[in-house]
Amino acid sequence: MNLTRFEALKTSLQKRPNILEEIGDDIFKKNVFSNDKLRHYINQNTFKRYNEAISKNTGIDRDLADDIASAMKAWALSKNVTHYTHWFQPLTGRTASKHDSFFDLSGDGDAIFKFDGSQLAQQEPDASSFPNGGIRTTFEARGYTAWDPSSPAFIFNKTLYIPTIFVSYTGEALDYKTPLLRSVSALDKAAKDVYTYFGKDVKRVSATLGWEQEYFLVDRSIASSRPDVTQTGRTLIGQTPPKGQQLDDHYFGTISTRATAFMQELENVAWSLGIPIKTRHNEVAPNQFEFAPIFEEVNISIDHNSLLMEIMPKIASKHSFRVLFHEKPFDNLNGSGKHNNWSMATDTGVNLLSPGKNPMGNLRFLTFFINTIAALLKHESLLLASIASASNDRRLGGNEAPPFIFSVFIGSQLTNVLEKLEKVSKGKLSPEEKTDLKLRIIGKIPEILLDNTDRNRTSPFAFTGNKFEFRAVGSTANCAKPMTVLNTIVSEQLILFKSQVDTLIKEKGLKKDDAIFNILRDSIKNIKNILFEGDGYSNDWVKEADKRGLSNIINCPTALQSYVSKKSIDLFEKMNVMTEGEVRSRYNVDMEEYSKKIQIESRLLGELALSQVIPAAIKYQKQLVDNLKGLKEIYGKDFDKNVVEQKNIVLTISNHVENIHKKVYDMVEARKKVNKIEEEDKNALAYAKEVFPYLDDIRYHCDKLELIVDDSIWPLAKYRELLFYR
Ligand code: ADP
Ligand code: MG
Repeated sequence: MNLTRFEALKTSLQKRPNILEEIGDDIFKKNVFSNDKLRHYINQNTFKRYNEAISKNTGIDRDLADDIASAMKAWALSKNVTHYTHWFQPLTGRTASKHDSFFDLSGDGDAIFKFDGSQLAQQEPDASSFPNGGIRTTFEARGYTAWDPSSPAFIFNKTLYIPTIFVSYTGEALDYKTPLLRSVSALDKAAKDVYTYFGKDVKRVSATLGWEQEYFLVDRSIASSRPDVTQTGRTLIGQTPPKGQQLDDHYFGTISTRATAFMQELENVAWSLGIPIKTRHNEVAPNQFEFAPIFEEVNISIDHNSLLMEIMPKIASKHSFRVLFHEKPFDNLNGSGKHNNWSMATDTGVNLLSPGKNPMGNLRFLTFFINTIAALLKHESLLLASIASASNDRRLGGNEAPPFIFSVFIGSQLTNVLEKLEKVSKGKLSPEEKTDLKLRIIGKIPEILLDNTDRNRTSPFAFTGNKFEFRAVGSTANCAKPMTVLNTIVSEQLILFKSQVDTLIKEKGLKKDDAIFNILRDSIKNIKNILFEGDGYSNDWVKEADKRGLSNIINCPTALQSYVSKKSIDLFEKMNVMTEGEVRSRYNVDMEEYSKKIQIESRLLGELALSQVIPAAIKYQKQLVDNLKGLKEIYGKDFDKNVVEQKNIVLTISNHVENIHKKVYDMVEARKKVNKIEEEDKNALAYAKEVFPYLDDIRYHCDKLELIVDDSIWPLAKYRELLFYR
């Protein structure tokens, strides 16, 4: 049974924080099967073969898998672990796992602990209940999880977790990780090929990611008294409190003792699992916070983000908190995002979005920098599709987050550099021009980046000194979606760039750096269209973007359509990241998820409005009416003259109740109509058009009632209770 609002408030005030006093320094990766642990359990030769297979990505044969499995088992048993599980990220966006014990029976009926290469390499979870967007019919519902040796196994809750990919019987990806890993390979190859212009020593280029995870903490009992918070992750009803975030007193403020205790315990667990959490702070809205780690290779970083999102609610619950990851849990207060800081790094430790030590290194920086922007320009609407969701719709464009228009911010200094580079002569550069270029422009890049204090918080995609920061990603998102797209489009662009430069060298006889300058110069002319330094929240930008022909998308289903444009499908197929079937299946899954989310919100709002809001309003109204009857007796014929306002309260309540009731029934009719549409995309588009508008409309009347109905009978915890009980 749910606690009532008043029981919940009472329970909440009894909480006692518990700060950890001691944290050991040997905690990092304590529960990760890292290389140094592996080395204890296998011989030198096996260890070498294993590391080679990983660094060259050549696959692991059965013998090697058996050796690794037995090492993992020995380590796990030494830590009293009883179960193992393949851990994967299906298209629900969350993580999934099926736990088996090591326990088995030998031929003569004795208990043994069994775990070998085949169990490490593959599992067959019953996959028919995971979304697949039509890839598999149920009679061939088999799905396989396959070990991803690039991400280390770890122990959590006495279970050995083995990170895996999830594919269908016929090899199609059923998860987020498979296409991500393919995009990582594509980028590795394309970036390495371009890198050959600048050096020969690099064996691998990987994408790097550092995410910043925003979230809210709400007292667990109070949150549990709100069915909308527990079922949809956001408040469907709720009047903005008089004091919200307008005093700016929460951002970077002192973290409450109770929240600190939660964060400490979380960090301890995260560190033991190898998640390199570095930063914690208060965010803008009351009870809103952020965690950020040190960046890592993108697939590890995404595993770590998914894992963190899995453990946060568990630890929050121990501290009597509930974590809200939703992009917009509270109307009129800032929502939560997950900034994705992205760059590319070589195995020799060079950040390709950082300038080098000499002019050639700076030209290398410009090459990767400009090509990244060129890729963004070409596929801006696909990037928007990669971050579209029902919940992110509530946050984007709300004057606290970037709008649904894609643009790139690079700062005035780099804008200046690009303007100068654009003026470089066509064809062969004269020695004077080259010297000038090196001294005055290219040579100055490290200096200007050191002083890269330009920050534009309103940009969805900003260059921040040595990385790009994709800020439109939602806080509930699995980063694999946007990161797969980003890796893929940059790979495509780098391949194009390489072929253009090579052509100039071969056919026009240009020298390497002359050819690079020529292609970059042409590129700069184009990319200007997507560069924007102004206020991304302003209406002027909406007009300006329209003039530039940039997409301004209004909602998730419209944005998702870019996934299945010919341009996007060609891109994914050409780069071997996804087949057309895989793209379409994801498109269907995302569309269906949108419809379901709006359907759930709509049903729940209807229920809350009819079974909680209206009854409370009528109860209060009845008190008022009884009171009016009494007053009539007292005032007699003077009643109408003296009792005006009190009658008005009754009428106002009546008016809102009438509106709510009518609109809830209209909304149900709209749903019935929309539910008849079978194709996932058309259904989602219709949900956005026909059902979505009722949510805010009905809420408006409920919120007005909250302001006038007797506080002692209002059933739903109010914003100030959700946000200010610490
Ligand atoms: P901000 O000023 O935006 O908070 P920080 O330097 O604190 O910037 O970094 C924010 C995030 O960016 C952190 O997770 C950090 O690890 C990550 N980051 C820094 N450098 C890189 C890089 N080269 N590639 C990817 N992420 C990076
Ligand atoms: Mg940042």
